[in-house]
Amino acid sequence: MKKRQRIRNLILLLSFLLFPVTQFYFSPYLIIWGASQGMITASFFTFAVFLFGSLFVGRAFCGWVMPCGSFQELCFQVNDKEPKTGKLNLLKFVIWVPWLITIFVMALLAGGYKRVEYFFAMDHGISVSNIYAYIIYYGVLLLFLLLSLIFGKRATCHYICWMSPFMIIGRKISNWINLPSIRLKSKKENCVQCGSCRKACPMSLEVNKMVTEKNMENSECILCGKCADVCPKNVITMYFGRL
Ligand code: SF4
Ligand code: SF4
Repeated sequence: MKKRQRIRNLILLLSFLLFPVTQFYFSPYLIIWGASQGMITASFFTFAVFLFGSLFVGRAFCGWVMPCGSFQELCFQVNDKEPKTGKLNLLKFVIWVPWLITIFVMALLAGGYKRVEYFFAMDHGISVSNIYAYIIYYGVLLLFLLLSLIFGKRATCHYICWMSPFMIIGRKISNWINLPSIRLKSKKENCVQCGSCRKACPMSLEVNKMVTEKNMENSECILCGKCADVCPKNVITMYFGRL
């Protein structure tokens, strides 16, 4: 295994071990609860970082640091089939838009945001600090596990993730104004169509087709670099720069 993937796996493992501490920083519910009281909570900041950060790193957060991504990749050991994707990837926006509207309406009803309570509902910044929080913690893991078992690799990322739309939109803006960002490029002429990149892709993307079509941009790509690291012909490269 290439050094880059060993580092990525280590970061993902640490992130998963820290999930009992960090869970509420990603909470889709606390941001609504906070908005209903005119409060900016931790997850508000997290989602803002995802939106603005993705201008320069795309969805690398998903590929490198997200505990939910880490847990889903652990589930590959049990079920590594490819989930149905295509239009089904849009499902997460069907969830995301009403959720975002709910936050907006709650904040409006509360008369706007009046204060910041970063550690709201946490104990000294720790998410899982009582028995009820444990129930939420294991409930979330169970949801990710079930989706992985039923549908396949990183099904949560494809179907229901409330965080990825921020990054997908950030990435689209980044591409539109051509900001320097982490990207993939390929040398189509060196490809022997062995299919290793496609097999290795945790997001089940048709990477070999992306290479053939000379279009390495895909809104579901989490910039994990696995395709680049498994390619026997070094066809794919990750770089930081403009399109
Ligand atoms: S296309 Fe490559 S970098 Fe993107 S998710 Fe798939 S393996 Fe990772
Ligand atoms: S792993 Fe490399 S050579 Fe094989 S299909 Fe993918 S890009 Fe082509």
